[in-house]
Amino acid sequence: MSSTHHTRLSVIRGDITEQRVDAIVNAANSSLLGGGGVDGAVHRKGGEAILEECRRLRAAHYGGGLPTGRAVATTAGLLPARWVIHTVGPVYSASEDRSALLASCFTESLGVAHELGAESVAFPAISTGVFRWPMDDAARIAAEAIHGSEVRVPEVRLVLFDDRALAAFRRAFGTT
Ligand code: ADP
Repeated sequence: MSSTHHTRLSVIRGDITEQRVDAIVNAANSSLLGGGGVDGAVHRKGGEAILEECRRLRAAHYGGGLPTGRAVATTAGLLPARWVIHTVGPVYSASEDRSALLASCFTESLGVAHELGAESVAFPAISTGVFRWPMDDAARIAAEAIHGSEVRVPEVRLVLFDDRALAAFRRAFGTT
């Protein structure tokens, strides 16, 4: 664990749905109505309450879905966290630089966590699954966005699902 901007930062291997933090971040899709990967696990383990709140968000503010790079919170249902912050990562493109949108997922989620009064927040490797972002580059963008954020959340945890992702994020964050 290292300290930057008075934030306790850790990079660990694990399952995002099992984190005992105030808020976990979901690599959602813009429909907010569920998908595979992290999203599938969040809804499967968190239960119907998360989906119900997502449906209400769709009916109210996000009729067209949640835009890429934005973040919105719901209950965490049956998960150990208090809130799920849903953010939509960009699909990787080799022909167009979408890094700012990926960085925005981290900064917007930190902003939402701060507004909620969350003291701890856990992130997965957004966009590196179905959305195919190269792991090392995604890790670099995550590190730059979190280190550059104006918003202070006391504990930030990066939760990686496998050894390859863990190694990439440890390199990018300079942790061992
Ligand atoms: P995206 O659509 O943004 O690419 P995915 O959910 O497909 O999101 O994958 C994002 C990353 O999260 C991938 O590296 C994947 O291996 C990882 N992942 C999948 N399930 C979990 C989980 N339960 N906890 C943490 N990370 C996960």
